[in-house]
Amino acid sequence: MVSCDHLVRTFAARAGTVAALDDVSFRVERGEFVAIHGASGSGKSTLLLTLGGMLRPTSGAVSIDGRDLYSLSAGARTRFRASTIGFVFQLFHLVPYLDVRQNILAGVPRPDADARARVDRLIEELGLGPRAESLPSTLSAGERQRVALARALAKQPPLILADEPTGNLDPVNAGVVFRRLADYQRAGGTVLVVTHGNDAAPYATRTLRLDHGRLAARLTTEVL
Ligand code: ADP
Ligand code: MG
Repeated sequence: MVSCDHLVRTFAARAGTVAALDDVSFRVERGEFVAIHGASGSGKSTLLLTLGGMLRPTSGAVSIDGRDLYSLSAGARTRFRASTIGFVFQLFHLVPYLDVRQNILAGVPRPDADARARVDRLIEELGLGPRAESLPSTLSAGERQRVALARALAKQPPLILADEPTGNLDPVNAGVVFRRLADYQRAGGTVLVVTHGNDAAPYATRTLRLDHGRLAARLTTEVL
């Protein structure tokens, strides 16, 4: 489903060049739930944006469903991303003038009656019922985070990439989010989550660790 080869991404910094990703290669098979843990600054967001077709690597290649992302034109890459990937941004990226229900529905290609019913179910499952008609600016960070997840799930993409999807949540709501992602995976979806804690581990089928831009098996005994 996802494969990347020798990904390198550098950024210019005052003290020279920072390698946010330093020769990262791995694959995620269809139906896996992979969690990547790493400290703040280890390259998690850089990795996810690169895999999601939003950040061109300095070198190396990303392929999703057999498609080499960065050999597509920008327009083709955007269309491919829209149809294939549900992306949960670390900073949510909600549309400020749409309410919660409209934000979630905005991710759906065909907002027909089925999609509307699906969105209403997600709103209930994620505890957003009382906020369905609220604008993002009136929500807590934890509520916005759940809206961002609901938007990714609502379009029923084959792949979900989630950047610290529980970063603003209490343990109870974090459990709700990870269980919902695990349900999606059991229904045939593929999930890749990056987190700074290890709270995704109980839900993941495989766990990796990112350390200063380099990927390692977290503990050999944990890798199936
Ligand atoms: P994480 O998500 O794990 O906290 P990031 O991927 O955001 O880590 O960042 C990894 C490293 O790359 C950090 O040292 C960060 O400062 C640097 N970095 C990320 N994005 C940029 C950018 N746009 N410009 C300069 N440096 C960046
Ligand atoms: Mg990050």
